[in-house]
Amino acid sequence: MGIFEQNFKMAIENNIRFSGKKVDNPKIPMTLHPLAIEQRYAVQIRKIVIKPVTDFYKNRIIPNITRWVEEEKVRFDEFETEFEALQNELQDLQDNIIPADPENSDFRLELLAIATLLLAFNRKQWQKQTAKVTGLPYVAPENFWPPIRDQWVRENYNLVRNISNLQISQLNEIVYRGIRNSSFTKDITKDIKKVNDNIKDNRANLIARDQSGKLSSRISKNRQVDVGVDFYIWQTAMDEDVRPSHEPLNGKLCSWKDSTIYAEVPLKGEKPVWKKRPKSWTQVPPEEDMNCRCTPTPYFADILEEVNNDLAA
Ligand SMILES: [Zn+2]
Repeated sequence: MGIFEQNFKMAIENNIRFSGKKVDNPKIPMTLHPLAIEQRYAVQIRKIVIKPVTDFYKNRIIPNITRWVEEEKVRFDEFETEFEALQNELQDLQDNIIPADPENSDFRLELLAIATLLLAFNRKQWQKQTAKVTGLPYVAPENFWPPIRDQWVRENYNLVRNISNLQISQLNEIVYRGIRNSSFTKDITKDIKKVNDNIKDNRANLIARDQSGKLSSRISKNRQVDVGVDFYIWQTAMDEDVRPSHEPLNGKLCSWKDSTIYAEVPLKGEKPVWKKRPKSWTQVPPEEDMNCRCTPTPYFADILEEVNNDLAA
């Protein structure tokens, strides 16, 4: 048994011993999905990474399109030269915002800030949950955090840089093709808007939700397993968007060690009866599947039973 695990059990034991209160079946507040942080993350992607490119197009490219469409009929190479210079300018702009090397990027600092907010949000809930069994909020040292944080920041930096690359290459392609085919200005600008809206609304939100959940899931798992909480209760968002492969797991007992099994929450004093999850159910922990808002609420019952048995002996 690890030292964090021992300390946690001791904290529970002391709480029961010194409070004189029976602690065997407390109601544990469920873990919440970090909705507000997820939204902040999406806003920062839009503001810092997507908007400058959108604005460059609005101010520097779109005003030229009508002229290019008209001139192109005789001088396509002149359009090409002019457009290439603008593309280079846009590339420089992107290299400032989200350079290939994240070390000097402000956006990397923003990602670190988001990660820290997610850790703090998770810690606050953990404190409320552990207080139900230890009497006081209980947090073990977060030794798991630096490597998880650094990996997440690296992965997210690349994901966001990829949607920035996608935005720029799709926009450039629309203009180049539009001028070459002598399309109408209004059709070209309509296509530009479509790309910008898709990146801004769909792509940014997807990364923000998916990645906030994934980091939260990793934090919860480490926090719980570190103190010997091997099981959790699967909690869905309980609305109409919950996917059919997650819905049947709501309220079921799950194991951090094996995501392919589940059990009904056992009655007091009984052992869980583990079953294989059907193939149509998800085979990963909550918040790991793309866009998942389900959460893992820690299951303390078996540790409590152990402690109570020790105390009775
Ligand atoms: Zn889910």
